[in-house]
Amino acid sequence: MVLWIGLDDTDSLRGMCTTFLATELVRELSTDLDLIGYPRIVRLNPNVPWKTRGNGALCVRFGRGRGESTPIGEIAGRSILSFPRSTGNDDPRSVVGRIERLVERWACFGDPTTNPAFVVFRRPPTARLYWRAVRRIISKEEALDAGRGLGLVREYKEGRGVIGATAATAWHPHDRTYEILAYRHPIAWGTPREVDPESVRRMDRAFPSTFNNYDHENARIVIAPRSPCPVLLGIRGDHVKDLVGAFRTVRSEPADRWLIFETNQGTDDHVISALPIEPSTTVDFRGDVTRGPRTITGGHLIFSVDGYEVTAYEPSKQFREKVGSLVPEDRVRVIGSVRDSPRTVNLEKVQVLHLAEVTRKIANPTCPQCGKRMKSMGRAAPYRCARCGVRRPRSAEARESVPRRLSLGWYEPPVGSRRHLSKPLQRMTGSVPSEKTSLEPARFRVPESEISLRSIGRLSRS
Ligand code: ATP
Repeated sequence: MVLWIGLDDTDSLRGMCTTFLATELVRELSTDLDLIGYPRIVRLNPNVPWKTRGNGALCVRFGRGRGESTPIGEIAGRSILSFPRSTGNDDPRSVVGRIERLVERWACFGDPTTNPAFVVFRRPPTARLYWRAVRRIISKEEALDAGRGLGLVREYKEGRGVIGATAATAWHPHDRTYEILAYRHPIAWGTPREVDPESVRRMDRAFPSTFNNYDHENARIVIAPRSPCPVLLGIRGDHVKDLVGAFRTVRSEPADRWLIFETNQGTDDHVISALPIEPSTTVDFRGDVTRGPRTITGGHLIFSVDGYEVTAYEPSKQFREKVGSLVPEDRVRVIGSVRDSPRTVNLEKVQVLHLAEVTRKIANPTCPQCGKRMKSMGRAAPYRCARCGVRRPRSAEARESVPRRLSLGWYEPPVGSRRHLSKPLQRMTGSVPSEKTSLEPARFRVPESEISLRSIGRLSRS
């Protein structure tokens, strides 16, 4: 049997990170229990108004390991091993006190928006709860109902974290990515991070199965957060076996600990195929551009698709240029989240399906009787021959086609402006080299030599 531990809502914008608390949990419980599979970061509906940052919840599984173990991290100088399967019959009550102590030590109780909770289940709830929580706004009662009879629930303050904690245990992955997270020494928390940008660019080139590392358009590192949290950096990728090598390529201040997580980041799990009607959902729909793009204060770009307003926020130079080149009658597929007020779709990705022909006038029409150029009689009025008085409609003017500065295909914002759940085009177009995957992720074998504890030393700036 496996103990399914879910955890959420322990951090605040002023510090901490629920993933750090997960590393503390792993450090504590792995002294006498075995970690089963990878710890999981499960991102939930990015449109919930009360999220701190990326609406991420955690799930960690413990039991009595069976099968070949794999090193997946290092905490406090100890290699963290993960097992593919578990036996044993541990009681959720046996670990509750230890989890409580850690939550009570690390959660930001002073922050009014932090409402921690954790769950310890004997088996996971049905996947339905995960799909509801990643796509919709759900109530605490719905989460409690899904977890009823499965084990223990512990809430603090308003206990809203029970939604994320339960939903994280309900994730039954059908698509998954991985993230190696490295943490700072406590003495460095809150000070500027030292991560060498050139080494991040080098890593980005050398490991094509990783993604969202470096924003080349805005010359910015994306792997390191900008908040005062304990995370040093995180590298995301499709192939778990590449992550340690990628991490070793980055030159940075020394890491205190690191751990590989399995995640739903970059999967588009939050997207539903629907028209943009229900607020706080992320929809995928097709339609014709009915109103061309215009820029509003702040540089945001607004256009309409089948009458629904769509907004491209924080457009990068290139994304703004592409989205800004749409014209009425272009056909597009839009993926974006529905904002209630003002009602608009915040664009996450757009696919151009058909390009309308754009023409420009090159000359007035000629008179069919005398052959002379005709005169315009006003903006919308027909043309008239000054000599013969013959009239011709405006459609008779000579026009030529204008080359479009847009091609068919997908467009996405720059790396730094993407949502955690958004599937990068790199993953959609299959440009990631394939890796033999197994349904049981913990069976990925990272060669001992690659992941040795000495690798940590090589991460430090030398
Ligand atoms: P971080 O990403 O830094 O860990 P966060 O963005 O995850 O922080 P939290 O502080 O965890 O933010 O707050 C999110 C809150 O929203 C949690 O209490 C969680 O239980 C709740 N929540 C998550 N998904 C949903 C949902 N679909 N409907 C309602 N509430 C949700």
